[in-house]
Order: sequence, then C-alpha cells, then structure tokens
Amino acid sequence: MLMDETLRDAAGARLTIDLMALVDNYRAIARRVAPAAVAAVVKADAYGLGARVVSRALEAAGCADFFVATLGEAIDLKPALGAASRVLVLNGLQPGAERVCAAAGAIPVINALEQAWRWRDLTLELGHALPVALQVDSGMSRLGLSPDEVEVLAGDELFLAQAPPILVMSHLACADEPENGYNRTQAIQFAKLADALPPAPRSLANSGAAFLDPSFHGDLVRAGVCLYGAAPNAARPNPMKPVVRLEARVVQIRQIPAGQGVGYGLTYTPTAPTAIATISLGYADGWPRALSNIGAAYYQGVRLPIAGRVSMDSITLDISALAKTGLALRLGDAVELLGAHQTLEDVAEQAGTIAYEILTGLRHRYHRTYVESSLAQDRLAAPKPVGAGR
Ligand SMILES: *Cc1c(COP(=O)(O)O)cnc(C)c1O
Repeated sequence: MLMDETLRDAAGARLTIDLMALVDNYRAIARRVAPAAVAAVVKADAYGLGARVVSRALEAAGCADFFVATLGEAIDLKPALGAASRVLVLNGLQPGAERVCAAAGAIPVINALEQAWRWRDLTLELGHALPVALQVDSGMSRLGLSPDEVEVLAGDELFLAQAPPILVMSHLACADEPENGYNRTQAIQFAKLADALPPAPRSLANSGAAFLDPSFHGDLVRAGVCLYGAAPNAARPNPMKPVVRLEARVVQIRQIPAGQGVGYGLTYTPTAPTAIATISLGYADGWPRALSNIGAAYYQGVRLPIAGRVSMDSITLDISALAKTGLALRLGDAVELLGAHQTLEDVAEQAGTIAYEILTGLRHRYHRTYVESSLAQDRLAAPKPVGAGR
C-alpha cells in the first residue's frame, strides 16, 4: 500500500483540515453561550470536511449531540461515536424509514404529525418508548410543526408517553443579520409554541444566533458553519479560527504570445506575452465556475488571477506577476486557493454565494490531511528566507 505521504505528494490538490482549530472554535462558542450546551451540526459530511473525523474530535472535546440532515448520514456516523452521544436527524423521517431509524439508534426530528403518528405506532409495535426531538415552525416556513399541529400533539398523551420529546427546537431565518427584528419575532413565537408542549430542553440558535444575545441561546446551540471557520456574519470581522487550507499543484507552465486565447471559449486573450500556469483543480472539485476570469490563487502571497474559464479538472492562472517578484513557479509547486491570503468569505463573495456553499462543495478528489497543529500558527509564521541556512 502507498504511504499517506506518497499519496499526498502524488495528489493534484490537497485539503488540510485543522482539528485543533475546529476544537478551539467549538470551545469558543461553548464559552460564549454557556450555560447553554453546544451541539455540532455535521450534516453534509460535516460541511464537506468529513463527518466521522470531525465528530470524533468534537466528541473528545465534550460535544455530546450531533445533528445530521438525513438518516443515511446518521447510519454512517452513529457507529463512529460513543454510545452516549446522540445523533439527531434534522430532515425527519421518510415514511417507512421508522424501523431503520430506531435500529440505528438515531433520534428523528419530527416535523409533521404524520411522522409523529408513524413513530408512535412503531414504539407500540416494539413495546417500548423511543425519544424524539420536535421541531416547530416559528416563522421560517421551511421545516417544523405548525401552531395547529403543535396543539394536536400537545394533547396526544399516548404520543408523549411513547415518544418523549428530549428537545424542542426551531430555526431562525435571519440569524446572520443581528439587527433584523424578525429574530425577536421568531424567538417569541418559539417560546409560545414550546410552552404549549411538555417541558423539554430548547434549541433555537445556529452559528449566527450564537452571536446574538443570550436570550436566543436556549439550552442547546446547534453550531455548524462557525465550527468550520466561517464567519457567523459575513459583514463583520471573523472571530473563528480558519480550519481549512486548500492547495493545488501546477501541472503545466507555458509562455503565450500576445493575442493568444486561453481556455474554453478563449475568454482570456492577453495583449502582451504572458506566462500561464495550469493547476490541477476545477469545478468538479467544487471550485465555482463562476470564478472564471474573476478569482485568483496565491503563491507566496502573490495574487495569480484566474485566466479564462474554470474547467472541470483544471484552472489556468496568469502568473506574469511573479516575474517582478523574482519568484519562479515550477511544475509540482502548490498554489493556495484557501488559506492565509484567501478566506472562504473572499471566495464566496467573488463567486456570488455564501461560505456554506464553498465548503460543502469541496469534493472528495482532494487528498485530505487532518492535522492537529494550528493553521493559524502557520499563517503567522515568518516566511523562510530563500537561500538562507547554508
Ligand atoms: C444547518 C442547520 C444548522 C447549522 O447552521 P449553521 O448556520 O451552519 O450554524 C442548525 N440548525 C438547523 C435546523 C440547520 O438546518
């Protein structure tokens, strides 16, 4: 078998995931919202970073609750965690999936009466109670029981005995807009709906709401994107530590004459002789095609603009700027796509999207390295002088 290092060196691009920064982010949120507890939202493979590895690192740091979106994700994650850790399925239960969910030891988030009845029926068949989480719709109109449905469920003693709610939750539509008054409107509606149900721990906050005032924190904060280093609010300085670094290798370097077009559609046609480097990463790796002729990569801090369209497996960079710096790029060198010089927020803004989409788009073709040391320290380290240390 090839050594991990050999695979890493052979890979066209590599994703480095800093588990220490991840845990630091978890602890920072936990300190912020205490005495509320913090659950990790690890849906979509922990936003693309690897649900099992991420969840184990957070479990070791004291996290006990893990939210996934689908039952498939829960089935994959549950065996990787200790028996005491809870895995909750945000998107509820597909009709007929109740038995599989129970067998997996996952806790469904009930979003509709029909789901509640099916789960109750299963507990009667099995002859024992099974916990649930209840999601109520406090005004986002996406998932959760309506006020009428909450009333029905609150009066169903058999359901409440067979399926005791361990959590009542809801979700904010505008948590990333701290000034938005609708957050308060939803918090009030959430309290009203939760008050109608038997007492249970409450959860309203995602990452953004963890940075709102404590009245939003409830008993359990469901933190997702901030754990992974993205900003709770893209308009403000990011208090989180960076967790991901993405680099791609140079697979071709060429000089082109003035007037020579580059890439599909020849959308980049320099008016002077230009040096072009092709790197091994493209839209099939989740790098947005919208960054054609807009985005950039960095080499030792020098900005290398994307020249032409982003292809499926490669991107062409105009590396002419390097000539003035005395730096040279060679085959096999790695350029930075995410790291000290370019954040998730930078890339998202240029691509007309949000950090969530950039993160969850990172695909499995990268060589992944999980490190325990902080990328933040790398970022601050002074560059090694070239040619020194003889
Ligand atoms: C995805 C999700 C979260 C996590 O949101 P972040 O903004 O990433 O912290 C929390 N709760 C629910 C219901 C979600 O769907």
